[in-house]
Amino acid sequence: MSSVFEYFKSVGQGVKSLLTGMAVTGKEFVTPKITEQYPENRATLQIPDRFRAELTLKYDAEGHHKCIACGICQMNCPNGTIELKTKMVELPDGKKKRKLDKYMYDLGSCTFCMLCVTTCPQDALEFSNDFEQAVFERDKLVKQLNYRPEPEDPQPAAAKPAAAPSPAAKPAAETTATPKN
Ligand code: SF4
Ligand code: SF4
Repeated sequence: MSSVFEYFKSVGQGVKSLLTGMAVTGKEFVTPKITEQYPENRATLQIPDRFRAELTLKYDAEGHHKCIACGICQMNCPNGTIELKTKMVELPDGKKKRKLDKYMYDLGSCTFCMLCVTTCPQDALEFSNDFEQAVFERDKLVKQLNYRPEPEDPQPAAAKPAAAPSPAAKPAAETTATPKN
């Protein structure tokens, strides 16, 4: 008797499962369809701002980036996607300073975890949402992020020449001495 009960119970569960699936299918059948006409709609395509497509250095209006070549992003990257090359430069005051030479980024191995961005002490990095990154050769995915020519650092202001003495400030001997006859 119990086996007959189990049989009808399983049939009932099967029918319920079938109806649930048919309900989902029916709902999707009447839902309006949206088809992206890509690439024809490239000009109007809306990519979410937070979409992580490619690592970039932030540049200000003068073309400066904020990277100080500290190497923290390189150390925190879990799979060696970032390779920094640095150089020593001499400042106008004669001191030496380490500066960024090449910031190399391999888009092909990036997992978009954003650890580099969140740990950068200078807030020098961000992700662009430029998603069209398809290339035919893998080595084209290795990019130099500091690709812009480095602007010259502002020179320290030159020391002003000493002001010429005014006539009123002439030495007393010169102004008061009168020739004796
Ligand atoms: S991007 Fe940021 S963390 Fe990476 S080297 Fe430059 S300053 Fe340091
Ligand atoms: S997003 Fe992650 S994997 Fe990609 S470069 Fe940054 S730390 Fe490395």
